[in-house]
Amino acid sequence: MKFELTNMRIKVTDIQYLNDLRAVANKLGKNSLKQRDYSKKNGAKYSLTSAIKRFENWDTLLKKAGLEGEKSLKGMEYGEKEIKDEVLLADLVRLANEINNPNITISDYDKYGKYSAVTMSARFGSWNKAKERANLEVKYITNNSNEDLFQNILDLWTLLGRQPKYGEVISPNSKFNGSTYARRFGSWRAALAAFIDYVNSENNDEEIADSDTPLIPINILAVKSKEIQKEIKIKRTPRGINLRLRWTILKRDNFSCTKCGRSPAKDQSIILHVDHIIPWSKDGETVIDNLETLCEGCNLGKSDLL
Ligand SMILES: [Zn+2]
Repeated sequence: MKFELTNMRIKVTDIQYLNDLRAVANKLGKNSLKQRDYSKKNGAKYSLTSAIKRFENWDTLLKKAGLEGEKSLKGMEYGEKEIKDEVLLADLVRLANEINNPNITISDYDKYGKYSAVTMSARFGSWNKAKERANLEVKYITNNSNEDLFQNILDLWTLLGRQPKYGEVISPNSKFNGSTYARRFGSWRAALAAFIDYVNSENNDEEIADSDTPLIPINILAVKSKEIQKEIKIKRTPRGINLRLRWTILKRDNFSCTKCGRSPAKDQSIILHVDHIIPWSKDGETVIDNLETLCEGCNLGKSDLL
């Protein structure tokens, strides 16, 4: 029989490290430890460097051991300031894959992540922003309807004055990432196609007045009985201008103000509104012929005149 040498170096388990850390803290009567406290002199069984190596950084080690971490003024975890953005994000992605859930929560992350959710939030602005940066599904996106995603396409398209490219579907111009669209529709191209289908589709209840129901001229209302007037009022178009109509008007007006010609594509400070020509309150209907694109400045000027 042939014998082989077994590897005699027994691997220290995570739990052994953590227990040892707690034992040293206990011995010193502290609820947190400085790196230099973890030494043979204080009864540490293992080496500081191997312990840190196992847990990536000292602060994580402290936290996993149930000890207090040290925090900087900015609320960033001690020792995590130097870690690069990509490394933090990569860990977020890794964990999301491991737990098979892109909607990773702060408590998930604090339990299983290498770093801390506090660091992630401080570094990227918020927990959701960290996930967004890591291209993970953010909760509010998951809950969003296609209409919200289409609305964002409309806004982006208006801002650029043309069809947005995949690389342009990023903050701050876009509320959602390109990857969100890719996940929902298969690709950015497919998302654009779905958007175009949507704005082209008919049979929206809100648009009945636009095609099927003939509008009764306002002067006729005067001679009708009150009852009929009431009935006619009910059949008025809704005041709100839905996404399809807004798209139609913006496209028709070339994503520019019909009064002064300014556009967000040329000047990002310009904000465009689709507005009633004859105000809805003055019996103007929400139909293509009574809608126009105006910049905020011209729109305010108009409301002063009316
Ligand atoms: Zn204008």
